[in-house]
Amino acid sequence: MDDLTSDETAIVALVAEWVDRDVKPVVRELEHSNTYPERLIEQMEAMGIYGLAIPEPWGEAAVSTPCYAAVTAELARGWMSLAGAMGGHTVVAKLILDHGTREQQDRYLPRMATGELRATMALTESGGGSDLQNLRTTALPVGDEYVVNGSKTWISNPRHSDLVALLCRTDPAAVPAHRGISILLVEKGPGFHVSRDLPKLGYKGVEACELSFDDFRIPKSSLLGELEGYGFAQMMRGLEIGRIQVAARALGVGQAALDDALRYAQQRQSFGKPIWQHQSIGNYLADMATSLTAARQLVMHAARCYEAGRADMETGMAKLFASETAMTIALDAMRIHGGYGYSTEFDIERYFRDAPLMIVGEGTNEILRGVIARQLVQRHPVAG
Ligand SMILES: Cc1cc2nc3c(=O)[nH]c(=O)nc-3n(C[C@H](O)[C@H](O)[C@H](O)COP(=O)(O)OP(=O)(O)OC[C@H]3O[C@@H](n4cnc5c(N)ncnc54)[C@H](O)[C@@H]3O)c2cc1C
Repeated sequence: MDDLTSDETAIVALVAEWVDRDVKPVVRELEHSNTYPERLIEQMEAMGIYGLAIPEPWGEAAVSTPCYAAVTAELARGWMSLAGAMGGHTVVAKLILDHGTREQQDRYLPRMATGELRATMALTESGGGSDLQNLRTTALPVGDEYVVNGSKTWISNPRHSDLVALLCRTDPAAVPAHRGISILLVEKGPGFHVSRDLPKLGYKGVEACELSFDDFRIPKSSLLGELEGYGFAQMMRGLEIGRIQVAARALGVGQAALDDALRYAQQRQSFGKPIWQHQSIGNYLADMATSLTAARQLVMHAARCYEAGRADMETGMAKLFASETAMTIALDAMRIHGGYGYSTEFDIERYFRDAPLMIVGEGTNEILRGVIARQLVQRHPVAG
């Protein structure tokens, strides 16, 4: 919280209160019925959460990246799905802010800031999400339009999003391949279908779907920015805020699991004493709190670096460490709860199902280790 202004600290506190008052009491029911949290999303819109990354003149509630991360963590402490629902939206907002034409900024950002227009991003294809330069979806120029063909998979929240940032190939013959990749700002129309909802372990309530494009025509003005062939580089920068977002979600899930475990370990007795007094359980708690504190520092460091410029290594480190930490904490919280950790009448099993998403999303942790290693060598080259 040292990174935040007093106004920002108040915003985070407001969201934390809302999570405790309005989210925690209903989350288990929404989770187990896999219900889209319409009412909670409306409340998030009213609080300005969809506009936290959108500055004036288009938005009214922009905050610093550390504050954005802290709000995201609070949402995820209540329910990871709520934070997930505004993750892709933020990436798209930043793409338009950083690379969009003034016309695109005026057209989309004011409505995105209020949440009236929600956005998602479509990168992944069934052939592979890590090897993005190998994507197959094409957008070929015909007159004043692009004709889009192909499909995407694992796209979050497209049924509730009216704008999709689509990563596609506008020049299939380009060498190297990334020079032929562009981003199109796509709104729904004939030939664009949300084709299938994918069943999943966690992240309930928010749909993940396949998208298909069959001779879908959109005007050339849908190209993000003015030049084709920059989409891959634009998306790599966009994914930096995405990684901060996913890392912050991991902090929230980890915090929720630690909070529950800390409470339970004081209430539950065995052998005549609270279980935290058994050294094994106390050690779990100590390790959980220590690693979560370290993860929080790393996420805030990445958020500061993001504001200062390029931060692919730092955001990669934050996402890698925070997500692995959330996985470990969720597992250890389950151990501390004994059999009740496995019960669907407790929240621990939800944390345990939600945590793995953060090791996969916005670059798998295997891919991120590669990013970090390359950056290390680039920043510290050995001559000769
Ligand atoms: C619930 C959910 C929501 C999602 N939401 C979105 C969304 O909104 N938009 C979107 O575009 N995508 C989304 N995704 C997709 C996600 O980004 C991809 O699943 C992820 O990028 C991995 O791609 P993949 O599943 O094809 O795995 P693959 O790329 O096939 O990887 C499989 C395994 O191989 C490893 N691997 C692959 N290449 C390398 C390498 N070079 N070095 C080391 N290891 C490697 C990976 O780390 C992984 O362990 C979502 C996924 C899920 C599960």
